[in-house]
Amino acid sequence: MSRVDPHSYYDDSQPRTRRWQLELRVDFAKQVLDGRVTLELEQPSGGVLDLDSKGLTIHEVRTQNGAAVPFEMGEEAEILGRRLRLQLPAGTAAVSLKYTTAPDATALQWLSPAQTDGKRHPFLFSQCQAIHARTMVPCQDTPLVRVNYRAEVTIPETLAAVMSAGPAGVRPGPTPGTHTFLFEMPQPIPPYLLALAVGDLDSRDLSPRSRVWAEPGVVSAAAWEFAEIESMIVKAEGLFGPYEWERYDMLVLPPSFPYGGMENPRMTFLTPTLLAGDRSLVDVLAHELAHSWTGNLVTNATAEHFWLNEGATVWAERRIREALHGVDDAILGWTIGQNALDESMKRFGVDSPLTKLRTELTGVDPDDVFSTVPYEKGARFLTLVERTVGRAAFDRFMRDYMARYRFTSITTEEFIDFLDEKLPGTTAKVNAKRWLYEPGMPPDAPVFRSPALDALVQLGAAWGKGTRPTPEQIKSWNPSEMLVYLQNLPRELDAAACDWLDSKLALSGRGNYEILVEWLTIAAGSDYEPAFARIREVLMRVGRMKYLRPLYMALGKHERTRKLARDIFAAASPTYHSLSRRVVQGILDKYTA
Ligand SMILES: [Zn+2]
Repeated sequence: MSRVDPHSYYDDSQPRTRRWQLELRVDFAKQVLDGRVTLELEQPSGGVLDLDSKGLTIHEVRTQNGAAVPFEMGEEAEILGRRLRLQLPAGTAAVSLKYTTAPDATALQWLSPAQTDGKRHPFLFSQCQAIHARTMVPCQDTPLVRVNYRAEVTIPETLAAVMSAGPAGVRPGPTPGTHTFLFEMPQPIPPYLLALAVGDLDSRDLSPRSRVWAEPGVVSAAAWEFAEIESMIVKAEGLFGPYEWERYDMLVLPPSFPYGGMENPRMTFLTPTLLAGDRSLVDVLAHELAHSWTGNLVTNATAEHFWLNEGATVWAERRIREALHGVDDAILGWTIGQNALDESMKRFGVDSPLTKLRTELTGVDPDDVFSTVPYEKGARFLTLVERTVGRAAFDRFMRDYMARYRFTSITTEEFIDFLDEKLPGTTAKVNAKRWLYEPGMPPDAPVFRSPALDALVQLGAAWGKGTRPTPEQIKSWNPSEMLVYLQNLPRELDAAACDWLDSKLALSGRGNYEILVEWLTIAAGSDYEPAFARIREVLMRVGRMKYLRPLYMALGKHERTRKLARDIFAAASPTYHSLSRRVVQGILDKYTA
Protein backbone atom coordinates (compact mmCIF):
# COMPACT_ATOMS: atom_id res chain seq x y z
CA MET A 1 0.00 0.00 0.00
CA SER A 2 1.55 3.22 -1.06
CA ARG A 3 1.52 6.19 -3.35
CA VAL A 4 0.09 5.14 -6.70
CA ASP A 5 0.02 8.38 -8.72
CA PRO A 6 3.36 10.10 -9.43
CA HIS A 7 1.55 13.45 -9.34
CA SER A 8 -0.17 13.12 -5.96
CA TYR A 9 0.61 12.52 -2.31
CA TYR A 10 -2.46 10.28 -2.19
CA ASP A 11 -1.66 7.02 -0.42
CA ASP A 12 -4.06 4.18 -1.09
CA SER A 13 -3.60 2.71 2.39
CA GLN A 14 -5.17 5.86 3.88
CA PRO A 15 -8.86 6.83 4.08
CA ARG A 16 -10.43 7.95 0.80
CA THR A 17 -12.56 11.04 0.32
CA ARG A 18 -15.97 10.50 -1.26
CA ARG A 19 -17.52 13.99 -1.14
CA TRP A 20 -16.55 17.65 -0.80
CA GLN A 21 -18.60 20.44 0.70
CA LEU A 22 -17.15 23.73 -0.45
CA GLU A 23 -17.89 27.19 0.92
CA LEU A 24 -15.94 29.74 -1.12
CA ARG A 25 -15.86 33.52 -1.06
CA VAL A 26 -14.44 35.00 -4.24
CA ASP A 27 -12.28 38.04 -3.45
CA PHE A 28 -11.55 39.90 -6.69
CA ALA A 29 -9.61 42.65 -4.87
CA LYS A 30 -7.09 40.24 -3.34
CA GLN A 31 -7.47 37.67 -6.15
CA VAL A 32 -7.99 34.82 -3.72
CA LEU A 33 -10.65 32.33 -2.70
CA ASP A 34 -11.33 32.31 1.03
CA GLY A 35 -13.13 29.29 2.20
CA ARG A 36 -13.69 26.01 3.77
CA VAL A 37 -13.84 22.51 2.41
CA THR A 38 -15.32 19.62 4.31
CA LEU A 39 -13.92 16.32 3.08
CA GLU A 40 -16.29 13.45 3.84
CA LEU A 41 -14.53 10.11 4.09
CA GLU A 42 -15.79 6.81 2.68
CA GLN A 43 -15.97 5.48 6.24
CA PRO A 44 -15.11 6.77 9.72
CA SER A 45 -11.35 6.44 10.05
CA GLY A 46 -8.35 7.59 12.07
CA GLY A 47 -4.63 8.10 11.59
CA VAL A 48 -2.67 9.81 8.86
CA LEU A 49 -4.39 11.45 5.90
CA ASP A 50 -2.10 13.01 3.27
CA LEU A 51 -3.57 15.70 1.03
CA ASP A 52 -2.22 17.66 -1.93
CA SER A 53 -1.88 21.41 -1.62
CA LYS A 54 -0.04 24.07 -3.56
CA GLY A 55 0.15 27.69 -2.44
CA LEU A 56 -2.67 27.20 0.06
CA THR A 57 -2.68 28.80 3.51
CA ILE A 58 -4.42 26.46 5.95
CA HIS A 59 -5.98 28.32 8.91
CA GLU A 60 -7.52 25.46 10.86
CA VAL A 61 -8.59 21.83 10.55
CA ARG A 62 -11.42 20.29 12.58
CA THR A 63 -13.39 17.05 12.65
CA GLN A 64 -17.15 16.87 12.18
CA ASN A 65 -17.43 17.25 15.98
CA GLY A 66 -15.32 20.39 16.09
CA ALA A 67 -12.22 18.71 17.51
CA ALA A 68 -8.99 20.33 16.31
CA VAL A 69 -6.97 18.11 13.96
CA PRO A 70 -3.16 18.41 14.11
CA PHE A 71 -1.67 19.11 10.69
CA GLU A 72 1.74 19.58 9.18
CA MET A 73 2.85 21.12 5.88
CA GLY A 74 5.66 19.34 4.06
CA GLU A 75 8.44 20.93 2.04
CA GLU A 76 7.51 22.66 -1.21
CA ALA A 77 8.12 20.32 -4.17
CA GLU A 78 8.28 22.02 -7.54
CA ILE A 79 5.68 19.93 -9.35
CA LEU A 80 3.61 18.40 -6.56
CA GLY A 81 3.40 21.34 -4.16
CA ARG A 82 3.29 20.62 -0.43
CA ARG A 83 2.05 17.50 1.27
CA LEU A 84 -0.54 18.43 3.89
CA ARG A 85 -0.49 15.69 6.52
CA LEU A 86 -3.46 15.45 8.90
CA GLN A 87 -3.54 13.27 12.04
CA LEU A 88 -7.16 12.20 12.25
CA PRO A 89 -8.60 11.16 15.62
CA ALA A 90 -10.21 7.70 15.53
CA GLY A 91 -13.77 7.74 14.20
CA THR A 92 -13.36 10.81 11.97
CA ALA A 93 -16.15 10.81 9.37
CA ALA A 94 -15.43 14.23 7.92
CA VAL A 95 -12.71 16.80 8.24
CA SER A 96 -13.16 20.50 7.62
CA LEU A 97 -10.30 22.76 6.45
CA LYS A 98 -10.46 26.56 6.54
CA TYR A 99 -8.05 27.97 3.97
CA THR A 100 -7.10 30.72 1.50
CA THR A 101 -5.70 30.27 -2.00
CA ALA A 102 -2.63 32.13 -3.28
CA PRO A 103 -3.03 35.06 -5.73
CA ASP A 104 -0.87 33.10 -8.19
CA ALA A 105 -2.84 29.84 -7.86
CA THR A 106 -2.30 28.09 -11.18
CA ALA A 107 -5.89 26.80 -11.32
CA LEU A 108 -7.30 30.33 -11.27
CA GLN A 109 -7.07 33.10 -13.80
CA TRP A 110 -8.25 36.50 -12.64
CA LEU A 111 -9.08 38.84 -15.51
CA SER A 112 -9.31 42.59 -15.19
CA PRO A 113 -12.36 44.29 -16.78
CA ALA A 114 -10.12 45.30 -19.71
CA GLN A 115 -9.50 41.61 -20.49
CA THR A 116 -13.22 40.88 -20.89
CA ASP A 117 -15.59 41.56 -23.76
CA GLY A 118 -17.77 43.95 -21.76
CA LYS A 119 -14.81 45.85 -20.19
CA ARG A 120 -16.86 46.66 -17.08
CA HIS A 121 -16.52 43.71 -14.72
CA PRO A 122 -13.70 41.38 -13.66
CA PHE A 123 -13.82 37.69 -14.56
CA LEU A 124 -12.51 34.55 -12.89
CA PHE A 125 -12.18 31.08 -14.35
CA SER A 126 -10.53 27.86 -13.23
CA GLN A 127 -8.58 25.22 -15.15
CA CYS A 128 -7.73 22.26 -12.89
CA GLN A 129 -6.43 19.70 -15.39
CA ALA A 130 -3.92 18.19 -15.02
CA ILE A 131 -2.82 18.83 -11.40
CA HIS A 132 -4.04 22.30 -10.47
CA ALA A 133 -7.08 21.44 -8.30
CA ARG A 134 -4.68 21.43 -5.32
CA THR A 135 -4.12 25.18 -5.78
CA MET A 136 -7.87 25.70 -5.32
CA VAL A 137 -8.85 23.04 -2.73
CA PRO A 138 -6.76 20.91 -0.35
CA CYS A 139 -7.65 17.39 -1.51
CA GLN A 140 -6.51 13.99 -2.73
CA ASP A 141 -5.73 15.44 -6.15
CA THR A 142 -5.60 12.27 -8.22
CA PRO A 143 -8.17 10.95 -10.71
CA LEU A 144 -8.14 7.71 -8.69
CA VAL A 145 -10.17 9.38 -5.93
CA ARG A 146 -13.50 10.43 -7.41
CA VAL A 147 -15.76 12.72 -5.41
CA ASN A 148 -19.13 14.34 -5.76
CA TYR A 149 -19.54 17.81 -4.34
CA ARG A 150 -21.75 20.57 -3.07
CA ALA A 151 -20.64 24.18 -3.25
CA GLU A 152 -21.71 27.58 -1.93
CA VAL A 153 -19.93 30.37 -3.77
CA THR A 154 -20.23 33.97 -2.58
CA ILE A 155 -19.54 36.63 -5.21
CA PRO A 156 -20.32 40.31 -5.89
CA GLU A 157 -24.04 40.73 -6.59
CA THR A 158 -23.37 42.23 -10.04
CA LEU A 159 -21.86 38.90 -11.21
CA ALA A 160 -22.99 35.31 -11.76
CA ALA A 161 -21.24 31.99 -11.06
CA VAL A 162 -21.30 28.67 -12.91
CA MET A 163 -19.65 25.38 -11.96
CA SER A 164 -19.17 21.85 -13.28
CA ALA A 165 -22.29 20.97 -11.31
CA GLY A 166 -26.03 21.44 -11.24
CA PRO A 167 -27.30 24.85 -10.11
CA ALA A 168 -29.14 24.65 -6.79
CA GLY A 169 -30.31 28.22 -6.26
CA VAL A 170 -29.10 31.68 -5.29
CA ARG A 171 -29.51 33.44 -1.95
CA PRO A 172 -28.41 36.76 -0.44
CA GLY A 173 -24.77 36.67 0.64
CA PRO A 174 -23.41 37.04 4.18
CA THR A 175 -22.23 40.61 3.55
CA PRO A 176 -23.90 43.55 1.76
CA GLY A 177 -23.34 43.64 -2.00
CA THR A 178 -22.86 39.88 -2.30
CA HIS A 179 -24.95 36.87 -3.22
CA THR A 180 -24.29 33.15 -2.84
CA PHE A 181 -24.71 30.60 -5.64
CA LEU A 182 -25.43 27.01 -4.62
CA PHE A 183 -24.38 23.98 -6.64
CA GLU A 184 -24.79 20.24 -6.30
CA MET A 185 -22.77 17.72 -8.30
CA PRO A 186 -24.25 14.27 -7.74
CA GLN A 187 -21.98 12.29 -10.09
CA PRO A 188 -18.49 11.38 -8.82
CA ILE A 189 -15.72 13.18 -10.72
CA PRO A 190 -11.92 13.21 -10.63
CA PRO A 191 -10.70 16.43 -8.93
CA TYR A 192 -9.37 17.85 -12.22
CA LEU A 193 -12.99 18.26 -13.35
CA LEU A 194 -13.81 20.73 -10.59
CA ALA A 195 -14.56 24.01 -12.38
CA LEU A 196 -15.75 27.49 -11.48
CA ALA A 197 -16.25 30.67 -13.47
CA VAL A 198 -17.50 34.04 -12.23
CA GLY A 199 -18.29 37.05 -14.37
CA ASP A 200 -20.92 39.17 -16.02
CA LEU A 201 -22.72 36.18 -17.56
CA ASP A 202 -25.85 35.80 -19.62
CA SER A 203 -27.35 32.60 -21.06
CA ARG A 204 -29.53 31.23 -23.86
CA ASP A 205 -31.38 27.92 -23.92
CA LEU A 206 -30.49 25.75 -26.92
CA SER A 207 -32.55 22.67 -26.06
CA PRO A 208 -34.39 21.31 -23.01
CA ARG A 209 -31.07 20.01 -21.64
CA SER A 210 -28.58 22.47 -23.06
CA ARG A 211 -27.80 26.13 -22.49
CA VAL A 212 -24.90 28.35 -23.47
CA TRP A 213 -23.39 30.97 -21.12
CA ALA A 214 -21.19 33.88 -22.13
CA GLU A 215 -20.69 37.56 -21.53
CA PRO A 216 -23.77 39.53 -22.68
CA GLY A 217 -22.00 40.88 -25.78
CA VAL A 218 -21.05 37.39 -26.92
CA VAL A 219 -24.02 35.24 -25.93
CA SER A 220 -26.11 35.70 -29.10
CA ALA A 221 -23.23 34.77 -31.39
CA ALA A 222 -22.49 31.76 -29.17
CA ALA A 223 -26.12 30.63 -29.24
CA TRP A 224 -26.10 30.79 -33.05
CA GLU A 225 -22.76 29.01 -33.42
CA PHE A 226 -23.71 26.11 -31.13
CA ALA A 227 -27.40 25.88 -32.06
CA GLU A 228 -27.01 22.30 -33.33
CA ILE A 229 -25.77 20.90 -30.02
CA GLU A 230 -28.89 18.81 -29.37
CA SER A 231 -28.54 16.87 -32.64
CA MET A 232 -24.90 16.26 -31.72
CA ILE A 233 -25.89 14.89 -28.30
CA VAL A 234 -28.47 12.60 -29.93
CA LYS A 235 -25.88 11.28 -32.42
CA ALA A 236 -23.38 10.70 -29.61
CA GLU A 237 -25.96 8.80 -27.53
CA GLY A 238 -26.64 6.61 -30.54
CA LEU A 239 -22.94 5.77 -30.73
CA PHE A 240 -21.85 5.52 -27.10
CA GLY A 241 -24.95 4.99 -24.96
CA PRO A 242 -27.07 7.29 -22.78
CA TYR A 243 -25.79 10.72 -21.76
CA GLU A 244 -25.26 10.30 -18.00
CA TRP A 245 -24.87 13.90 -16.78
CA GLU A 246 -28.45 15.21 -17.21
CA ARG A 247 -27.53 18.64 -18.58
CA TYR A 248 -24.98 19.66 -21.21
CA ASP A 249 -24.31 23.37 -20.73
CA MET A 250 -21.45 25.38 -22.18
CA LEU A 251 -19.57 28.50 -21.17
CA VAL A 252 -17.74 30.67 -23.69
CA LEU A 253 -14.77 32.27 -21.92
CA PRO A 254 -12.79 35.42 -22.63
CA PRO A 255 -10.02 34.98 -25.25
CA SER A 256 -7.20 34.22 -22.79
CA PHE A 257 -8.62 30.73 -22.12
CA PRO A 258 -5.57 28.54 -22.89
CA TYR A 259 -7.35 25.57 -24.49
CA GLY A 260 -9.89 25.02 -27.27
CA GLY A 261 -12.22 23.53 -24.74
CA MET A 262 -12.22 21.86 -21.33
CA GLU A 263 -14.69 19.08 -20.76
CA ASN A 264 -15.87 20.19 -17.32
CA PRO A 265 -18.95 18.00 -16.76
CA ARG A 266 -22.32 19.75 -17.12
CA MET A 267 -20.43 22.93 -18.12
CA THR A 268 -17.97 22.60 -20.98
CA PHE A 269 -15.59 25.57 -21.08
CA LEU A 270 -14.89 26.87 -24.62
CA THR A 271 -12.58 29.37 -26.27
CA PRO A 272 -14.29 32.27 -28.10
CA THR A 273 -12.07 31.47 -31.10
CA LEU A 274 -14.69 28.83 -31.97
CA LEU A 275 -17.15 31.60 -32.84
CA ALA A 276 -16.21 31.61 -36.52
CA GLY A 277 -19.63 32.88 -37.55
CA ASP A 278 -20.23 29.89 -39.87
CA ARG A 279 -20.43 26.90 -37.47
CA SER A 280 -17.25 25.58 -39.09
CA LEU A 281 -15.33 24.88 -35.86
CA VAL A 282 -17.86 22.83 -33.95
CA ASP A 283 -15.57 19.77 -34.12
CA VAL A 284 -14.08 21.08 -30.86
CA LEU A 285 -17.58 20.95 -29.43
CA ALA A 286 -17.96 17.35 -30.66
CA HIS A 287 -14.67 16.61 -28.88
CA GLU A 288 -15.73 18.12 -25.55
CA LEU A 289 -19.15 16.46 -25.77
CA ALA A 290 -17.50 13.09 -26.47
CA HIS A 291 -15.54 13.49 -23.22
CA SER A 292 -18.88 13.01 -21.43
CA TRP A 293 -18.22 9.32 -22.16
CA THR A 294 -14.48 9.04 -22.74
CA GLY A 295 -12.62 10.86 -19.97
CA ASN A 296 -15.40 11.99 -17.69
CA LEU A 297 -17.37 8.73 -17.41
CA VAL A 298 -14.32 6.47 -17.83
CA THR A 299 -11.25 8.37 -16.64
CA ASN A 300 -7.49 7.88 -16.84
CA ALA A 301 -6.13 6.60 -13.51
CA THR A 302 -3.24 9.07 -13.68
CA ALA A 303 -1.69 11.45 -16.22
CA GLU A 304 0.48 8.52 -17.42
CA HIS A 305 -2.67 7.04 -18.98
CA PHE A 306 -3.88 10.31 -20.53
CA TRP A 307 -4.23 8.63 -23.94
CA LEU A 308 -7.23 6.72 -22.55
CA ASN A 309 -8.99 10.08 -22.14
CA GLU A 310 -7.83 11.81 -25.29
CA GLY A 311 -7.24 9.02 -27.81
CA ALA A 312 -10.71 7.63 -27.18
CA THR A 313 -12.19 11.13 -27.34
CA VAL A 314 -10.60 11.97 -30.68
CA TRP A 315 -11.81 8.64 -32.04
CA ALA A 316 -15.32 9.44 -30.70
CA GLU A 317 -15.20 13.03 -31.99
CA ARG A 318 -14.51 11.81 -35.55
CA ARG A 319 -17.29 9.24 -35.28
CA ILE A 320 -19.71 12.02 -34.31
CA ARG A 321 -18.42 14.10 -37.20
CA GLU A 322 -18.90 11.22 -39.61
CA ALA A 323 -22.45 10.64 -38.32
CA LEU A 324 -23.31 14.33 -38.76
CA HIS A 325 -21.44 15.31 -41.93
CA GLY A 326 -20.32 12.12 -43.67
CA VAL A 327 -17.11 10.14 -44.04
CA ASP A 328 -15.28 12.66 -46.25
CA ASP A 329 -15.65 15.31 -43.59
CA ALA A 330 -14.33 12.95 -40.92
CA ILE A 331 -11.34 12.17 -43.17
CA LEU A 332 -10.52 15.88 -43.30
CA GLY A 333 -10.54 15.84 -39.48
CA TRP A 334 -8.10 12.90 -39.47
CA THR A 335 -5.88 14.70 -41.98
CA ILE A 336 -5.73 17.90 -39.96
CA GLY A 337 -5.01 15.74 -36.92
CA GLN A 338 -2.16 13.99 -38.77
CA ASN A 339 -0.58 17.37 -39.44
CA ALA A 340 -0.68 18.16 -35.71
CA LEU A 341 0.67 14.69 -34.85
CA ASP A 342 3.59 15.08 -37.28
CA GLU A 343 4.42 18.41 -35.65
CA SER A 344 4.47 16.87 -32.15
CA MET A 345 6.58 13.90 -33.30
CA LYS A 346 9.04 16.35 -34.84
CA ARG A 347 9.11 18.49 -31.70
CA PHE A 348 9.86 15.56 -29.36
CA GLY A 349 11.73 13.34 -31.85
CA VAL A 350 10.26 9.96 -32.84
CA ASP A 351 12.54 8.16 -30.37
CA SER A 352 11.37 10.24 -27.43
CA PRO A 353 9.63 8.29 -24.64
CA LEU A 354 7.07 11.11 -24.68
CA THR A 355 5.73 9.66 -27.95
CA LYS A 356 4.67 6.45 -26.20
CA LEU A 357 0.98 6.20 -25.43
CA ARG A 358 1.57 4.86 -21.92
CA THR A 359 4.04 7.38 -20.48
CA GLU A 360 6.24 7.42 -17.38
CA LEU A 361 6.01 10.81 -15.75
CA THR A 362 7.67 10.57 -12.34
CA GLY A 363 9.36 13.94 -11.88
CA VAL A 364 7.71 15.35 -15.01
CA ASP A 365 5.04 18.06 -14.98
CA PRO A 366 2.16 16.88 -17.23
CA ASP A 367 1.75 20.44 -18.56
CA ASP A 368 5.34 20.42 -19.81
CA VAL A 369 4.77 17.37 -22.00
CA PHE A 370 1.30 18.20 -23.29
CA SER A 371 1.06 17.38 -27.00
CA THR A 372 -1.22 15.88 -29.63
CA VAL A 373 0.45 12.44 -29.31
CA PRO A 374 -2.02 10.94 -26.79
CA TYR A 375 -4.84 12.42 -28.88
CA GLU A 376 -3.93 11.47 -32.43
CA LYS A 377 -1.71 8.42 -31.90
CA GLY A 378 -4.25 7.12 -29.37
CA ALA A 379 -7.14 7.60 -31.80
CA ARG A 380 -5.18 5.85 -34.55
CA PHE A 381 -4.52 2.88 -32.27
CA LEU A 382 -8.25 2.54 -31.56
CA THR A 383 -9.04 2.89 -35.25
CA LEU A 384 -6.59 0.10 -36.03
CA VAL A 385 -8.46 -2.09 -33.55
CA GLU A 386 -11.75 -1.01 -35.14
CA ARG A 387 -10.50 -1.91 -38.63
CA THR A 388 -9.13 -5.22 -37.38
CA VAL A 389 -12.27 -6.48 -35.65
CA GLY A 390 -14.79 -4.61 -37.81
CA ARG A 391 -16.86 -1.59 -36.92
CA ALA A 392 -19.88 -3.41 -35.49
CA ALA A 393 -17.76 -5.46 -33.10
CA PHE A 394 -15.70 -2.44 -32.06
CA ASP A 395 -18.77 -0.28 -31.44
CA ARG A 396 -20.16 -3.05 -29.24
CA PHE A 397 -16.84 -3.23 -27.43
CA MET A 398 -16.73 0.51 -26.77
CA ARG A 399 -20.28 0.49 -25.41
CA ASP A 400 -19.41 -2.47 -23.15
CA TYR A 401 -16.27 -0.61 -22.04
CA MET A 402 -18.25 2.53 -21.14
CA ALA A 403 -20.83 0.47 -19.25
CA ARG A 404 -18.24 -1.67 -17.43
CA TYR A 405 -16.03 1.22 -16.22
CA ARG A 406 -18.54 4.05 -15.87
CA PHE A 407 -17.62 6.45 -13.05
CA THR A 408 -14.27 4.79 -12.46
CA SER A 409 -10.64 5.69 -13.23
CA ILE A 410 -8.56 3.02 -14.97
CA THR A 411 -5.11 2.22 -16.29
CA THR A 412 -3.89 1.29 -19.76
CA GLU A 413 -3.37 -2.25 -18.52
CA GLU A 414 -6.99 -2.54 -17.36
CA PHE A 415 -8.13 -1.35 -20.78
CA ILE A 416 -5.95 -3.92 -22.55
CA ASP A 417 -7.13 -6.74 -20.27
CA PHE A 418 -10.73 -5.79 -21.05
CA LEU A 419 -9.99 -5.72 -24.78
CA ASP A 420 -8.48 -9.21 -24.55
CA GLU A 421 -11.46 -10.44 -22.57
CA LYS A 422 -14.07 -9.08 -25.00
CA LEU A 423 -12.21 -9.49 -28.30
CA PRO A 424 -9.74 -12.33 -27.66
CA GLY A 425 -6.55 -12.23 -29.71
CA THR A 426 -6.98 -8.64 -30.83
CA THR A 427 -4.17 -7.05 -28.81
CA ALA A 428 -1.69 -9.52 -30.33
CA LYS A 429 -3.08 -8.99 -33.84
CA VAL A 430 -2.62 -5.21 -33.66
CA ASN A 431 0.65 -5.50 -31.72
CA ALA A 432 -0.77 -3.33 -28.96
CA LYS A 433 2.49 -3.43 -26.98
CA ARG A 434 4.30 -1.66 -29.81
CA TRP A 435 1.63 1.07 -29.88
CA LEU A 436 1.46 1.53 -26.12
CA TYR A 437 4.97 1.03 -24.81
CA GLU A 438 7.23 2.04 -27.70
CA PRO A 439 7.91 5.51 -29.13
CA GLY A 440 7.05 6.83 -32.59
CA MET A 441 4.37 5.69 -35.02
CA PRO A 442 4.09 2.00 -35.91
CA PRO A 443 4.23 1.24 -39.66
CA ASP A 444 0.70 -0.21 -39.64
CA ALA A 445 -0.90 3.10 -38.56
CA PRO A 446 -4.29 3.55 -40.27
CA VAL A 447 -4.32 5.76 -43.34
CA PHE A 448 -7.23 8.09 -44.09
CA ARG A 449 -7.71 9.06 -47.72
CA SER A 450 -10.38 10.14 -50.18
CA PRO A 451 -10.16 11.30 -53.83
CA ALA A 452 -11.11 14.84 -52.77
CA LEU A 453 -8.35 14.86 -50.15
CA ASP A 454 -5.75 13.48 -52.57
CA ALA A 455 -6.57 16.26 -55.04
CA LEU A 456 -6.09 18.93 -52.37
CA VAL A 457 -2.79 17.48 -51.20
CA GLN A 458 -1.48 17.30 -54.78
CA LEU A 459 -2.57 20.86 -55.46
CA GLY A 460 -0.65 22.08 -52.42
CA ALA A 461 2.42 20.03 -53.32
CA ALA A 462 2.43 21.49 -56.84
CA TRP A 463 2.78 25.06 -55.54
CA GLY A 464 6.54 25.05 -56.22
CA LYS A 465 5.89 24.18 -59.87
CA GLY A 466 3.70 27.24 -60.20
CA THR A 467 0.34 25.48 -59.98
CA ARG A 468 -2.36 27.62 -58.33
CA PRO A 469 -5.95 26.80 -57.46
CA THR A 470 -8.54 28.27 -59.79
CA PRO A 471 -11.14 30.74 -58.48
CA GLU A 472 -13.75 27.96 -58.94
CA GLN A 473 -11.74 25.54 -56.83
CA ILE A 474 -11.23 28.12 -54.10
CA LYS A 475 -14.92 28.91 -54.07
CA SER A 476 -15.88 25.26 -53.78
CA TRP A 477 -13.78 24.61 -50.64
CA ASN A 478 -15.31 24.30 -47.22
CA PRO A 479 -13.21 25.67 -44.32
CA SER A 480 -11.58 22.29 -43.56
CA GLU A 481 -10.55 21.90 -47.20
CA MET A 482 -9.09 25.39 -47.23
CA LEU A 483 -7.12 24.51 -44.10
CA VAL A 484 -5.79 21.24 -45.57
CA TYR A 485 -4.71 23.11 -48.70
CA LEU A 486 -2.80 25.69 -46.63
CA GLN A 487 -1.18 22.95 -44.54
CA ASN A 488 0.21 21.40 -47.72
CA LEU A 489 1.93 24.60 -48.85
CA PRO A 490 5.64 25.26 -48.18
CA ARG A 491 6.28 26.85 -44.76
CA GLU A 492 8.26 29.69 -46.29
CA LEU A 493 7.21 31.68 -49.35
CA ASP A 494 8.40 34.83 -51.05
CA ALA A 495 6.51 38.09 -50.72
CA ALA A 496 4.83 37.78 -54.13
CA ALA A 497 3.47 34.35 -53.20
CA CYS A 498 2.21 35.68 -49.87
CA ASP A 499 0.54 38.60 -51.67
CA TRP A 500 -1.15 36.15 -54.05
CA LEU A 501 -2.42 33.91 -51.27
CA ASP A 502 -3.73 36.68 -49.08
CA SER A 503 -5.54 38.43 -51.92
CA LYS A 504 -6.98 35.36 -53.66
CA LEU A 505 -7.96 33.46 -50.52
CA ALA A 506 -8.85 36.54 -48.43
CA LEU A 507 -6.92 35.07 -45.52
CA SER A 508 -6.08 37.96 -43.20
CA GLY A 509 -9.73 38.88 -42.77
CA ARG A 510 -10.89 35.38 -41.77
CA GLY A 511 -13.01 34.86 -38.65
CA ASN A 512 -12.12 31.16 -38.69
CA TYR A 513 -9.04 31.03 -36.45
CA GLU A 514 -7.83 27.68 -37.79
CA ILE A 515 -7.45 29.19 -41.28
CA LEU A 516 -6.32 32.58 -40.04
CA VAL A 517 -3.57 31.16 -37.82
CA GLU A 518 -2.38 28.68 -40.46
CA TRP A 519 -2.00 31.59 -42.85
CA LEU A 520 -0.30 33.83 -40.29
CA THR A 521 2.09 30.99 -39.43
CA ILE A 522 3.17 30.84 -43.09
CA ALA A 523 3.39 34.63 -43.19
CA ALA A 524 5.46 34.74 -39.97
CA GLY A 525 7.84 32.06 -41.24
CA SER A 526 8.14 33.99 -44.52
CA ASP A 527 9.11 37.26 -42.79
CA TYR A 528 6.15 38.80 -44.63
CA GLU A 529 5.82 42.31 -43.27
CA PRO A 530 2.26 43.15 -44.46
CA ALA A 531 0.95 40.47 -42.05
CA PHE A 532 2.85 41.69 -38.97
CA ALA A 533 0.03 43.93 -37.73
CA ARG A 534 -2.50 41.07 -37.94
CA ILE A 535 -0.07 38.70 -36.20
CA ARG A 536 0.35 41.21 -33.40
CA GLU A 537 -3.41 41.68 -33.11
CA VAL A 538 -4.05 37.93 -32.84
CA LEU A 539 -1.26 37.32 -30.33
CA MET A 540 -2.42 40.26 -28.21
CA ARG A 541 -6.02 39.03 -28.14
CA VAL A 542 -5.90 35.25 -28.00
CA GLY A 543 -4.26 33.03 -25.38
CA ARG A 544 -5.14 29.63 -26.85
CA MET A 545 -1.94 27.56 -26.75
CA LYS A 546 -2.78 25.78 -30.00
CA TYR A 547 -2.34 29.12 -31.79
CA LEU A 548 0.42 30.67 -29.72
CA ARG A 549 2.77 27.74 -30.22
CA PRO A 550 2.99 27.66 -34.06
CA LEU A 551 2.93 31.44 -34.40
CA TYR A 552 5.73 32.08 -31.92
CA MET A 553 7.72 29.18 -33.36
CA ALA A 554 7.39 30.50 -36.91
CA LEU A 555 8.37 33.98 -35.74
CA GLY A 556 11.66 32.47 -34.54
CA LYS A 557 12.95 31.86 -38.07
CA HIS A 558 14.09 35.38 -38.96
CA GLU A 559 15.88 38.10 -37.05
CA ARG A 560 13.20 40.70 -37.70
CA THR A 561 10.36 38.41 -36.64
CA ARG A 562 12.24 37.29 -33.52
CA LYS A 563 12.31 40.91 -32.43
CA LEU A 564 8.63 41.23 -33.28
CA ALA A 565 7.86 38.14 -31.20
CA ARG A 566 9.77 39.48 -28.18
CA ASP A 567 8.01 42.85 -28.44
CA ILE A 568 4.60 41.24 -28.68
CA PHE A 569 5.26 38.83 -25.81
CA ALA A 570 6.45 41.65 -23.54
CA ALA A 571 3.14 43.42 -24.11
CA ALA A 572 0.86 40.37 -24.20
CA SER A 573 2.26 38.09 -21.48
CA PRO A 574 0.43 39.79 -18.56
CA THR A 575 -2.85 38.93 -20.31
CA TYR A 576 -1.90 35.29 -21.00
CA HIS A 577 -2.87 32.39 -18.75
CA SER A 578 0.09 31.04 -16.76
CA LEU A 579 0.06 27.84 -18.87
CA SER A 580 0.27 29.82 -22.10
CA ARG A 581 2.93 32.13 -20.70
CA ARG A 582 5.13 29.14 -19.87
CA VAL A 583 4.73 27.63 -23.32
CA VAL A 584 5.67 30.87 -25.09
CA GLN A 585 8.57 31.60 -22.75
CA GLY A 586 9.91 28.11 -23.53
CA ILE A 587 9.76 28.86 -27.27
CA LEU A 588 11.41 32.29 -26.97
CA ASP A 589 14.19 30.77 -24.82
CA LYS A 590 15.11 28.54 -27.76
CA TYR A 591 15.41 31.40 -30.25
CA THR A 592 18.89 32.08 -31.50
CA ALA A 593 19.86 35.71 -30.83
ZN1 LIG B 1 -9.87 16.31 -24.94
